[in-house]
Amino acid sequence: MSVRVRFAPSPTGGLHLGGVRTVLYNYLFARQHGGQFIVRIEDTDQNRYVPGAEQYIFDCLEWCGLVPDESPLHGGAFGPYRQSERKSIYRKYAEELVEKGYAYYAFDTPEELEQMRKSLASPENPNPQYDHTVRKKMRNSLSLTAAEVKQLLDDQTPHVIRIKMPENEVVAFEDMIRGTIENECGLVDDKVLLKADGMPTYHLAVVVDDYLMKITHAFRGEEWLPSAPVHVLLWRYLGWGKDMPKWAHLPLILGPNGKLSKRDGAKYGFPVFAMNWKDPKNDELTEGFKEKGFLPEAFVNLLALLGWNDGSGKELFTIEELIQSFDMNRVHKGGAKFDYDKAKWFNQEWIKNKSVADLAPLVHHVLHQKRIKTSMDDRLSMLINLVKDRCVLLTDFEQQLGYFYQRPERIDTEAIKVKWNEDKKQFFIQFAGQLSALEEWSFQNIEQVFKTSAEVAAIKPGELQLPFRIMLVGGKFGPAVFQIAEILGKEETVKRIEAGIELIISNS
Ligand code: GLU
Repeated sequence: MSVRVRFAPSPTGGLHLGGVRTVLYNYLFARQHGGQFIVRIEDTDQNRYVPGAEQYIFDCLEWCGLVPDESPLHGGAFGPYRQSERKSIYRKYAEELVEKGYAYYAFDTPEELEQMRKSLASPENPNPQYDHTVRKKMRNSLSLTAAEVKQLLDDQTPHVIRIKMPENEVVAFEDMIRGTIENECGLVDDKVLLKADGMPTYHLAVVVDDYLMKITHAFRGEEWLPSAPVHVLLWRYLGWGKDMPKWAHLPLILGPNGKLSKRDGAKYGFPVFAMNWKDPKNDELTEGFKEKGFLPEAFVNLLALLGWNDGSGKELFTIEELIQSFDMNRVHKGGAKFDYDKAKWFNQEWIKNKSVADLAPLVHHVLHQKRIKTSMDDRLSMLINLVKDRCVLLTDFEQQLGYFYQRPERIDTEAIKVKWNEDKKQFFIQFAGQLSALEEWSFQNIEQVFKTSAEVAAIKPGELQLPFRIMLVGGKFGPAVFQIAEILGKEETVKRIEAGIELIISNS
């Protein structure tokens, strides 16, 4: 049977890094086995639907290079791939379960449910659930007569269909990561399968769609483990035999204070979403890894290692290497700690390893966004080559390269002022003059003039280099200062020294 896996997001907001890791593990597994990777949009909860979130998910996948084989956008033979467009499919399965005695109609109003919860709540059981201990006391087809039920249905009384969880049964299944998992069914509530609006809940839809879409393996977050017995039973009750998808419940991703959730947005000072997400409800913008300056290759690489490794200590993997090496059986059970410094390390390594030709369009884009006018030319390539080892994020190229394209508006005069004096001012005035007269403009000659002038002025060259650098680039960064001067050219270098002296004097 050919491998078919799926990522089944609900389009409710930004795509969390845990979601992208689920996509990645699905993708790697599919590619490894020559199978199909499907994206199914689970949009049955109309209250949580957020416009634009579906397209955003596909944009994120495209950026990561994890493009599905089948989806609402990519088509396929098992569509529709949006659950809201499959609404008519689910009722018959829910009715079949009722007929077989595995599910029942429940007519309880929201007030009656609230009443039940209030009257049964106790310190030991603060949130009573609708389960085998209460179902007989509620208004459903188990407690009412057949005639009453028929009447209510004929009157189109709003109702849901609930699964009838067995009281004394242990359900077991094999998890690819966790081994045999056993659950006491009596502890699980009678979950709603079909809602009053005719839409299925996740529990029914996931089982029906995995069956109809011939899914062979299903990977999802470990928060779904408690619901797994419901899904195992539904599969069994619907008579679909042993070919239930093989489950793997992926470990949580942990942040500084436990589970790193969608709601953590940018509160820790690092992104949790793949790309910028603008909440249409309040226009609030949450920065993504892409816009922060991550390369998709680095993002994918670091996500692969959040919960998995190949056992050899190797950390840098291309997608092809991941396809070769990834093994679901080696995914850890325990939560995977997300370390932002380590994430940046991955990005830095990827920037170092990328060719200048591959970096050029990305850097051009970053600078363009910051309104720094560059062209995709040899000069840009030369500059990228000069500074790429100093950049951790793509956005760092703004600081490392921007001053080659425009004179810094402000310079760090504070850093210069500490050790500034009349002698140094005189030195820079002299030095600027000598540079203007320099015939052959090369970094060796600039350095020579610098050293000689320093000697004449009897100032240690080390004390003059920092002010020189700050005058040229604005701060304490950038490659070798004489190289910077060579690239800036004579006229510009002299202008920046003169402007620097002015700024220091006016700020003193
Ligand atoms: N719609 C579910 C979610 O967003 C999918 C879980 C699954 O993959 O089965 O978490």
